[in-house]
Amino acid sequence: MKALAEMSAAEASGFRYMLMDIDDTLTTAGKLPAVAYAALWRLAGAGLKVIPVTGRPAGWCDLIAREWPVDGVVGENGALVFWEEDDGSAAEVGAHNTAQNAAPSMGGRRVLKQEFHPQAVRNDHPVLEKIKKRALEEITGLRMAKDQFARLFDIALDFAEEDPVLPLETAERVRAIAEEEGARAKISSIHVNVWMGEYDKLSMAEHFLQSRFGWRGGTEAAYREVLFAGDSPNDEPMFARFPLACGVANVERYRNYMKHLPGFIASREGGEGFAEIAETVLAKRAGGYG
Ligand SMILES: [Mg+2]
Repeated sequence: MKALAEMSAAEASGFRYMLMDIDDTLTTAGKLPAVAYAALWRLAGAGLKVIPVTGRPAGWCDLIAREWPVDGVVGENGALVFWEEDDGSAAEVGAHNTAQNAAPSMGGRRVLKQEFHPQAVRNDHPVLEKIKKRALEEITGLRMAKDQFARLFDIALDFAEEDPVLPLETAERVRAIAEEEGARAKISSIHVNVWMGEYDKLSMAEHFLQSRFGWRGGTEAAYREVLFAGDSPNDEPMFARFPLACGVANVERYRNYMKHLPGFIASREGGEGFAEIAETVLAKRAGGYG
């Protein structure tokens, strides 16, 4: 992992899609700081496509897609993507765009679009029920995440969002149980997410870039059109794919739990680290660094 300052102006100027994890990347100690939210607006205002890629539930993604300055949001670790489109009623421009100068450009009324991964399986599947039962019985202190009611396709087991904060080994044990039972599992900084179906943050993010924006993957040049910021093992497929992946400083905590680390690392943690990434790349794009 190189310091952010080592990213070249050519690298910082060559990407078009700004993707980011949410928990402990945009947030700090569970809150979205003003600097991180302002950074999203600045990135959107600079003409970048801004797309959070999160393990958070469908119910949260509805809000994020509608109310944040984003071009889409991938949720539930790749089970779904929500975005807004202009319905083409350009006559209503004046009535609807007064508060979104820097937001994704839209003229008429906005319509929320929802796409679910073809392999996504509803989270009432008996295998997921069995994993949940085993994990909760076996691991003292483990509990269901309180955002579970807003989820469609995964179950989320909370080991660190609330107290008691359990060691990472606990999360590893949950993942092992899930995999023994034939499901997939990824560990974030707060939850272990468990689902059926072959998809992850990366596969859905790539699909969305292709279908919505005409991006073509498969080449080094294409992967350099994407900058991703993240912090933890469920971001690892993104770190592995994109040469311009950046970690916030707290990614160091998971160094021993990941094979693929991001190419760059911020000096600050969480939302402040994300703001540092945004400021650095925007300054380099503007020629602010030699
Ligand atoms: Mg995270």
